[in-house]
Amino acid sequence: MDELDADPAVAERRDEADPIAGFAERFHVPDEQIYMDGNSLGPLSDDAERTLDRVVDEWRERGIEGWTEGEQPWFHYGEHLGDRLAPLVGAREDEVVVANSTTVNVHTLVGTFLDAADGDAVIVNELDFPTDHYAIRAQLRQCDLDPDEKLVVVESRDGRTIAAEDVVAAMDERDDAGVVFMPSVLYRSGQLLDVERITRAAHDRGLLAGFDLAHSVGVVPHDLSAVGVDFATWCSYKYLNAGPGAIAGLYVNERHFGETPALAGWWGHEKETQFDLNMTYTPADSAGAWQTGTVPMLSAAPLEGSLDVIHDAGIDAVREKSLELTDYLIELVDDELAAYGYGVGTPREHDRRGGHVALEHDDAERISLALRDRGVVVDYRPPNVVRVCPSPLYTSFRDVYDAAAHCRDVVETGEYEAYDAGDDVT
Ligand SMILES: *Cc1c(COP(=O)(O)O)cnc(C)c1O
Repeated sequence: MDELDADPAVAERRDEADPIAGFAERFHVPDEQIYMDGNSLGPLSDDAERTLDRVVDEWRERGIEGWTEGEQPWFHYGEHLGDRLAPLVGAREDEVVVANSTTVNVHTLVGTFLDAADGDAVIVNELDFPTDHYAIRAQLRQCDLDPDEKLVVVESRDGRTIAAEDVVAAMDERDDAGVVFMPSVLYRSGQLLDVERITRAAHDRGLLAGFDLAHSVGVVPHDLSAVGVDFATWCSYKYLNAGPGAIAGLYVNERHFGETPALAGWWGHEKETQFDLNMTYTPADSAGAWQTGTVPMLSAAPLEGSLDVIHDAGIDAVREKSLELTDYLIELVDDELAAYGYGVGTPREHDRRGGHVALEHDDAERISLALRDRGVVVDYRPPNVVRVCPSPLYTSFRDVYDAAAHCRDVVETGEYEAYDAGDDVT
């Protein structure tokens, strides 16, 4: 790798001054890799491994007693992790629980609130992650509604971002709208939406507002209770680093406690009487009601340790470093990569940016493959985006510098031309 025109010593000085640089030592990134894909799968930390090992030990040593006698009794583990997640999303402890997967939570939450809302149309946007639309369409069909009519898809003006005023306009245009469901951060461009503005506009018009926080939880602080967001869900395997397919999180505002979940199950039953095994379902008086079946301990345990890491660093420090890293990357793209056909597809304002940067290039797919072979782990999102995520807990400024230098090299040398655009999975 050749150096850029920019001085790498500048990056190294910033690393020396970085108050959370030391957290990288708690993570395992495969040797020689520059890992820029933490918004897709965060790496393992010692802390996550420790809590996973503890639960496996409890299972081995205590068997079924783990439900009541584990260091964190398994029976209450979903609620326990919810308490620990609550500060990251700005909610009361009983408004948060871990359960299911994000997709299943979209089903149960949108299903529940479609039922509770005055209207029966759901407002989404065309840049959403597809699973959200699949789930909402299925829920509309469950209600005997035509998804082509009742899924209202706000269009993007530029193919990258969604304008809040267009979301608000859709609320005004559709007098049948009941729920607006938006991502906090768009998975491709990295735009951060204005959760507060969308929620207030929804409430002013009698709609309920829900959010998919998959691309922001653990890197962007939230304030869900104060804003009055009705419901939300998120993944734990991206910026929360809890492992592949780790249990998801969800939030329900306390004013909705007592609603019957669309996907009701015994794990959401009031805890005190759950083991009375009554045929009538009494929902827990908390977000815990939206759990479905038994908490999957082995996909929940790593989250306990990975939350220790984030709480030790502090979410505000994580956000601050994230913005510094992405600012630095954007600066390098502008100054050194634009000449090689790269552009920035992510909004530049801090309050409109999540934790990753979309590098746009006509040959994005082949470039992504070439970068991976050089050990720079990024991903490609069609049609023209190389996503680069310098996740703050384990990424240095020097990593960003090196990643940018590799981006320049693979184009300058023509190396990417040896790759076929085609059928890579990630
Ligand atoms: C990653 C992601 C998902 C993934 O859902 P799973 O059920 O965990 O597979 C859902 N929505 C968004 C916006 C995502 O970014």
